[in-house]
Amino acid sequence: MREARGAKRVVKALRAAADLVWPADCAGCERELAGPLCGECRLALLGPVTRRESGAPRLVPADGGPALPVWSSAWYQGEVRRAIVAWKRQGRGELEWELRRAVARTAEAAGRVLAPISPAIAVVPVPSRWLRRLSRRGGTSAVLARAAAEALAGSGFEAVLADVLTRSSLSREQAGKSRQQRVAGREGTTGVRRPPPAPCLLVDDVLTTGATLLDAERALSRVGVQTLGAVVLAVSPAGSLDTRSAPN
Ligand SMILES: [Zn+2]
Repeated sequence: MREARGAKRVVKALRAAADLVWPADCAGCERELAGPLCGECRLALLGPVTRRESGAPRLVPADGGPALPVWSSAWYQGEVRRAIVAWKRQGRGELEWELRRAVARTAEAAGRVLAPISPAIAVVPVPSRWLRRLSRRGGTSAVLARAAAEALAGSGFEAVLADVLTRSSLSREQAGKSRQQRVAGREGTTGVRRPPPAPCLLVDDVLTTGATLLDAERALSRVGVQTLGAVVLAVSPAGSLDTRSAPN
């Protein structure tokens, strides 16, 4: 009896260890034995690379001026959303290769548009808030930015990874601000450690309202550096922000 229980414990421990190395379910649709991402979920992640900033209210200036272009190959919904959350929050590190590949492919496509504008590009990760940063060295956007910089260098750009932005914590950033400014939220929380050496391409995991990207663009502009656009893994579909639930 005791032996049987012991054997069961061993089997359970082995299964847990195997799951750590190679979880059995697809991170997007949870189908079994599909590896980190099944073919269908990979297709959803690797959709057509297009500009998808039009649904981000904060990126479209009220004065009708041009919006910051944001390229992506996926919408932040359904299986793509689940896969990104699994990578960021649930420790599914084996997804990193898939997500790096997606962002590299998007950066290459953005590069074809940006090539006539600048032969040199500084690829700048948009920092996550400091608490989240602690859980993954450099933050998820730094991992993605490295992949984007490599892809651009492979396409003939003078591309450098420039991890130069900082974001202050909420309590510090809000101190000394008026109520209206506090309500306005994240504005002014991004700092620049040193000006990047070339016009910038921002990299982040997900675009929602665009407030974070806009704040990064303004911070860089204050030190005299132009932002050419941004590359993200996925974009919240227009309208999903009001209802707080993305359609599936
Ligand atoms: Zn799947």
